[in-house]
Amino acid sequence: MTAEGSALPIEPGLAPLLAEAENSAASAAYRVFPRLGPDLYRTLRESGVRRIALQVPAGLTRGAREIADTLRTETGADVLLAARACFGACDFPAPDEVPGADALVLLGHAPIPNVRLALPTYFVEMRHPGGDPDRLARLLVDRKLPSPLGLVCSIQHLDLVDPLVVAARRVGIEFLFAEGDRRLGYAAQALGCNYTSAERVADRVRGFVFLGTGDFHPRGLALAVDRPVWTVDPLTAQVEPPIDRASLVRDRLLRIASCRDARRWGVLVSSFAGQNRSPMALALVRKARERGREAETLVFARLDPADLIGRDFDAYVNTACPRIALDDAALYPRPMLTPPEFLQAIGERPLDEYRFDTYH
Ligand code: SF4
Repeated sequence: MTAEGSALPIEPGLAPLLAEAENSAASAAYRVFPRLGPDLYRTLRESGVRRIALQVPAGLTRGAREIADTLRTETGADVLLAARACFGACDFPAPDEVPGADALVLLGHAPIPNVRLALPTYFVEMRHPGGDPDRLARLLVDRKLPSPLGLVCSIQHLDLVDPLVVAARRVGIEFLFAEGDRRLGYAAQALGCNYTSAERVADRVRGFVFLGTGDFHPRGLALAVDRPVWTVDPLTAQVEPPIDRASLVRDRLLRIASCRDARRWGVLVSSFAGQNRSPMALALVRKARERGREAETLVFARLDPADLIGRDFDAYVNTACPRIALDDAALYPRPMLTPPEFLQAIGERPLDEYRFDTYH
């Protein structure tokens, strides 16, 4: 088991483009709670907060009214439910979206350390206490997973990391995991835009286990690290077959190839504090023009596919959430690439090395 903090190498020549500007404005304070309960309610009461804006992720929408009711009863504060969908700890409501709120309660996400907060914020990570580490370790042996393995997980299952590492060692499987960069608060944590905790051990492992469900993180992880990725559901003890990275990369290279003749590029920039890479967008516009292309920036908060209908761009490069280009591109009227893919499309980077768009 490791927990390392060495700097990640950034590809020469790309550093100025991939670097994100530091946000110089001061951030509001935040507190972190593993789950809803008396500690959170007491802290909110003692803080004197008068109006709470509550934001819940899609999976908890049905229970949001009940959670709001409990918060109101337990704290004595007004509670506003933020209705806008929330995809990550980077797109919480701005103060003008939640009028009069003097605190945010965000469910299901961990803080992103380098994202500036405009209001005092209470992160409730909704950690899950479930999962039997000994059963999971035996499962890995039964499925003949190699050793050593890297370990990455969603925030809900982070409490299982240490017990699983110990249990796995007892049956002969070594796990390695590491701290990520400044966008990750915990060792072994995954964000859909940042798998640096995995990248730091990738050259010393024969594959990765992702502890969690669904294929969102496994696909992102497989693009970020050139290793097999097995998904292990800690609650049902199911192991999914490894992600087919070659096919993912092939699909992306086809998209890049389809954009090589694009003349007019739209460079997309989000105004969300946690998705705003304006300096990178400006650098990409310059690169495009140097390569004889036309390029303009388009600014938005949450991108809606309808906003791009009828525009005279041949293709887009998205500097906001990397997963929009990777997962949702089919919803948009023109091809959309990530920044490293865009650099490949205009001939600035070679085609033979795929690079995940890590949001640092
Ligand atoms: S940028 Fe995208 S992947 Fe990263 S935290 Fe935000 S929503 Fe999630």
